Amino acid sequence: MLNERYVALGRVRSVIRELFEYGIARKAEIGEENVFDFSLGNPCVPPPEEFERELSGLIAGGDALSLHGYTSAPGAPEARAAVAAYINSAFGCPVTAGDIYMTCGAAAAVTITLCALCGAGDEVLAFAPYFPEYKVFAGQAGAKFVAVPSLPGTFAPDVSALSAALTRKTKAVIINSPNNPSGVVYSADEIAAICSVLRRHSERTGSPVYLIADEPYRELVYGGAEVPYVMNFYDDSVVCYSFSKSLSVPGERIGYIALNPKAAQRDDLFAAVCGAGRALGYVCAPSLLQRACTRLMGRTSDISAYERNRDRLLSELERYGYEVVRPQGAFYLFVRSPEPDAAAFAERAKKFELLLVPSDDFGVKGYVRIAYCVGADMIERSLPAFRALAQSYGLNEK
Ligand code: PLP
Repeated sequence: MLNERYVALGRVRSVIRELFEYGIARKAEIGEENVFDFSLGNPCVPPPEEFERELSGLIAGGDALSLHGYTSAPGAPEARAAVAAYINSAFGCPVTAGDIYMTCGAAAAVTITLCALCGAGDEVLAFAPYFPEYKVFAGQAGAKFVAVPSLPGTFAPDVSALSAALTRKTKAVIINSPNNPSGVVYSADEIAAICSVLRRHSERTGSPVYLIADEPYRELVYGGAEVPYVMNFYDDSVVCYSFSKSLSVPGERIGYIALNPKAAQRDDLFAAVCGAGRALGYVCAPSLLQRACTRLMGRTSDISAYERNRDRLLSELERYGYEVVRPQGAFYLFVRSPEPDAAAFAERAKKFELLLVPSDDFGVKGYVRIAYCVGADMIERSLPAFRALAQSYGLNEK
């Protein structure tokens, strides 16, 4: 007898992966340039030159044994110190190296944090639309995942819905801004409102609800949008960061957890994070990458390409008559399906060689996600297909 939970999890089909595989097969059939694959959130711009320079410098100048050896479980001291110094200077938070735990990307950061916080039967909340893996991460922690609706149309956080969803079992709320899949960025007022609801609830029940900010898209914002730093709003908070998207290195698996030094049970929380990382078998984050990425704190690959893609697609899709959530960040457009069934819409889009992800797995019905981290040339080639798809639904062109 195997672990039935994992057998089932391993068998669940991922709509995004299936679409991606379909795209590969279709490209082989009709030619790469004729398929418009908007399925995956894989960065399309190379890492910045400094990344290659830091890597080569480390390899050329370093002590190979220490560079490729295990670091201590929370990370190399210089990496943790660099992250803490950056958080201090960029966001004015008095975080120290001791509050930082280096991880294999945001996925590991969120999983470790949830395992550190939750016991069996606890509840973890997130606003829909949400990153589908949160359900898996909460399940790993033995917790129940509860989706909280966002405000219809804008997908801003619905703070009253959050308040209604909180129970004595609520252990954590995950927020993800800039958001995958909506591209929405939460304002300082929205974050403050979320925190005040959590604070009131924690006081009433006598046990803290933790706020987890999942931030793989922090730097990917456009038109001057700002991403408030949750530690400045709420003491019982944890930031889960990833270099995957900012430096275009998702396959390298590197990120970190930053604990708020003001968290009520800060010392136990850090111990629990170390314990969870150990129990999950992470040992330590990739040693070379810890050093290379933390020498580039705050730096990004050339994200201007994403902003150009966003502007071009947004204005054209709106012109063809689609209703699009106006994204301020990440590299996704969330587009309303012209028919109630988003899967049916995505199926019809395939006839026009457009690969779009239906929103159901993100916890929202009636939308599709377009990952616009693709070449500008593909966007140009795809526009007639988007237009023909709109016309097939009789949408009014502006
Ligand atoms: N959280 C969100 C919202 C994401 O979109 C992703 C990846 O796409 C992750 C976490 C996982 O990121 P990482 O590659 O750093 O594990």
